[in-house]
Amino acid sequence: MSTVAIAGAGPVGLTAALVLARRGVEVTVLEQGSALASESRASTFHPPTLEMLRDLGVTPDLMREGLVARTFQYRERGGDPVATLDLGVLSEDTEFPFRVQCEQSKLTPILLDALPGSAQVRFGHTVEGVSAESGGLRVATSRGAVHCEWLIGADGAHSAVRRGIGADFEGSTYPERFLVASVDEELDAVLPGIALINYVFDPQEWLVMLRTPDHWRVLLPTPAGTADDLELRRLPERLAGVADLGRPWRIAHASLYHVHERVTPRFRDGRVLLMGDAAHVNNPLGGLGMNSGIHDAVRMAHALADVLAGAPDDVLEQAARRRRTVAVEHVQRTSRANWSRLRTHDAEYRRGLRELAADPVAARAYLRRACLMDSLETT
Ligand SMILES: Cc1cc2nc3c(=O)[nH]c(=O)nc-3n(C[C@H](O)[C@H](O)[C@H](O)COP(=O)(O)OP(=O)(O)OC[C@H]3O[C@@H](n4cnc5c(N)ncnc54)[C@H](O)[C@@H]3O)c2cc1C
Repeated sequence: MSTVAIAGAGPVGLTAALVLARRGVEVTVLEQGSALASESRASTFHPPTLEMLRDLGVTPDLMREGLVARTFQYRERGGDPVATLDLGVLSEDTEFPFRVQCEQSKLTPILLDALPGSAQVRFGHTVEGVSAESGGLRVATSRGAVHCEWLIGADGAHSAVRRGIGADFEGSTYPERFLVASVDEELDAVLPGIALINYVFDPQEWLVMLRTPDHWRVLLPTPAGTADDLELRRLPERLAGVADLGRPWRIAHASLYHVHERVTPRFRDGRVLLMGDAAHVNNPLGGLGMNSGIHDAVRMAHALADVLAGAPDDVLEQAARRRRTVAVEHVQRTSRANWSRLRTHDAEYRRGLRELAADPVAARAYLRRACLMDSLETT
C-alpha cells in the first residue's frame, strides 16, 4: 500500500514524486516504458519553472546541461529581426531572467536521481485502470494491482488514468500538423545575429528555430491530409528555403505530429488528480506545455502533501481548480495567440512588437505573461 501512486515518469510525474517524497510522503511511480523516454520534445525552461526546480535542488544540474537564452527574436521570413525581446527586464522579478534551452529528456534523469530512496519507481508497469476499494484505490497495471490512497495521472496525452475515471478531453485538433527537424548545422553562421530562440513570421510557412545543446531544431507547419513520407521527402527543399547552405542540410532527426488543444473538465476527481499532458495539451509555440505541467505538479503535489499533513481538503480542491483555470486562460490562450501571430501579414503588429522591445515596462508585462509568471499569482 503506497500513499500516492503516480502514473508516468515524464517531467510532470517525476516532479510530483520529488515534491511529495521531499515532504515525507510515500510515493510509487508506475512507468510503462522500460526506461525514461528519450524522445526530443519540449526544450525550453521558463524562469518560474527554473525557480520551482531550484527549490527542488535540480536547477544547477539542468543549467549545466542546457544553454542560457537571454533574448529571443521575432523575425521576418528571409529577412532581418523584427524585434529582439530581452528577458533581462525580468531581473527584479526573478533570479533567472532568461530561458534555459535543454531537452526534457535531460531533465527526467536529473529528477530521477534526486528522488530519495523512499520513493519507488517501477518501470515496465503500464497503468490500465483505477477503481475504488475500501481504504483507497486499486490501480490495475500490466504487472498486477497496486494499492494506494491517492493516484496522480501524469501519464501523458493518452492518459489511461483520465480514461479510467471516464473524464472527457474536450477541445480540437489543429488543421495543420507540425514537422520538427533536428539538424546538425550552425545556423548562426548563415543567419547572422540569430538568437537561440526565433519565431519567424510568414502567412504560408511560418517557422520556429530553436537552439538546443545538441542541435538546432526547426519547426514548420504542414498541411493536413498529406502523406508522411511525402512531407519528409520535401523537408530538404523546405529547409533550403529557410537558408541556402549550397548543399543539403544535415538532418539528424525529423518527425511529424498532430497538434491538439484540449483540457479535461476537472483536474481532481475524488482521490485521483490529473496533471500535465494528461490534463491539458496545447500547441508548442512559446514552450508552455511542459512548463505549465511542471507548475501543475509543484502546486498540486504541495497541496496534496498539505492535506495529508492535516490541512483542509479545500486546499487541494482550490489548487486543482486554479490549475485548470491557468490551463484555459493562460496556457491555451497564449499558445493559440502565438500561433495566430506567426501567420499574420499585419505591419501594425510588427511595429507594435518593435515598440514593445524598446519599452522595458511594456516588455516586462508582456514577458511576465509569456513565461507564465503571472499565471502563478493567485488571487
Ligand atoms: C512530438 C512532441 C513535441 C513536443 N514539443 C514540445 C515543445 O517543443 N515545447 C513544449 O513546451 N512542449 C512540447 N511538447 C509537449 C511536451 O513534451 C509535454 O507537454 C510534456 O512532455 C508533458 O509532460 P508529462 O510528464 O505530462 O507527459 P509525458 O512527457 O508524455 O510523460 C508521460 C509518461 O507517462 C508514461 N505513460 C504513458 N501511459 C502510461 C501508462 N498507461 N502507464 C504508465 N506510464 C504511462 C509515458 O511513457 C511517459 O514516460 C511536445 C510533445 C510532443 C508529443
